[in-house]
Amino acid sequence: MVLTSLSPQENPSPAYICPLDQACSYLEEAARELKLDRNILEILSNPRKVVTVSIPVKRDDGEVQVLAGHRVQHCDILGPYKGGIRYHPAVTLREVSALAMLMTWKCALLGIPYGGAKGGIALDPKSYSIGELERITRRYTSELIKDIGPTVDIPAPDMGTSAREMAWMMDTYSVNVGHAVPGVVTGKPLSIGGSRGREMATGRGVMIIVREALADLGKSLVGTRIAIQGFGNVGSAAALLLHQAGAKVIAVSTGTGGVFSDVGLDIPALKTYVAQNRRSIVGFPQASAIGNTELLTLPCDVLIPAALENQITQDNVDRIHARIIAEAANGPVTLQANQALEARGVTVLPDILTNAGGVVVSYLEWVQGLSYVFWDEERVNRELENLMVQAYRQAIQQTKVRQISLRLAAYTLGVGRVAQAFTDRGLYP
Ligand code: GLU
Repeated sequence: MVLTSLSPQENPSPAYICPLDQACSYLEEAARELKLDRNILEILSNPRKVVTVSIPVKRDDGEVQVLAGHRVQHCDILGPYKGGIRYHPAVTLREVSALAMLMTWKCALLGIPYGGAKGGIALDPKSYSIGELERITRRYTSELIKDIGPTVDIPAPDMGTSAREMAWMMDTYSVNVGHAVPGVVTGKPLSIGGSRGREMATGRGVMIIVREALADLGKSLVGTRIAIQGFGNVGSAAALLLHQAGAKVIAVSTGTGGVFSDVGLDIPALKTYVAQNRRSIVGFPQASAIGNTELLTLPCDVLIPAALENQITQDNVDRIHARIIAEAANGPVTLQANQALEARGVTVLPDILTNAGGVVVSYLEWVQGLSYVFWDEERVNRELENLMVQAYRQAIQQTKVRQISLRLAAYTLGVGRVAQAFTDRGLYP
């Protein structure tokens, strides 16, 4: 299992778009724009540490299954490694490596003192009991015990994980080192040092960036027609906050189907419906059914892909009608589709900016923990707002100075800051 997932032939299908190749292409484009020293580019193209561990887990029926768990630490030049832990069947080492690299640029772009990392286990959380998930998470954590820590590498939730998994990780780490270490993870429950506002943070960040982009076009959120693919932690929080700000969320979808309403969905009612229907949005009253991929091509002002990578591709890009695409997921627009959208003058709000709200509030959680002073939600949201708006403004300024797209602007800022740190610190030995 472990060896299979480490193989370079992870996905032999010709239609497969490798997220690591895409991440490296964006890095190379930024390097060309910055006229970056090729030695620094060589260093930044490679992760510093790649760890794959075997996770033997006893299933509830007594059988033992061995899973592969990854943690990729891309760069720690600006501070401890930081990034989520993903539980999803499509997790591969190459995907985790790509996402670790994105975290490096994301943290640098937002001006927070972290490097980039990502972890993941290829599993479908729905196929495991809570007890099994706890055993998997604890064993994964103990296998990584020497590689993580509050000043070394700080995991957080990502797709398929939440505060619950972070509590198990924090507990396992703490028991192993002999004392409570809340700072080893972020996105924890409030009871053990989590931050107010963390759960909604990524969605709030998406709302802020969409609001700013609309304002630059002379528009406001009020009455803006928005379609959202994905109704997990990020998609549902963004939907709620956009709805509260007066936008019309006309469609929402998940892997099992979606719902559409021309007058705008009642998002609070939809959230209640999902909670009561085993997390499914299908069948929500006062709305018609719509497919998960059909949603992408709906006529709307803003399209928010908030699910998986590679959703807007060469195959459907000609049918995308939105004026603004906000990448709430990581890498939902492929390289080729991105070029086609830019050529058509569609504003693509890049993932490393748009979905940075989560790691920003992770940072605020870490700062609160280190200072033993915990803030109210209003303060957390205010600090998040300031950091997001500042990064957006700097990226817009960069588009003007360099006459480049917003994605390349965001990349040049993130990559440029990391490269500058390499130049200043120098290469050891
Ligand atoms: N998983 C989130 C991301 O991809 C949050 C990471 C964090 O808070 O460290 O940005």
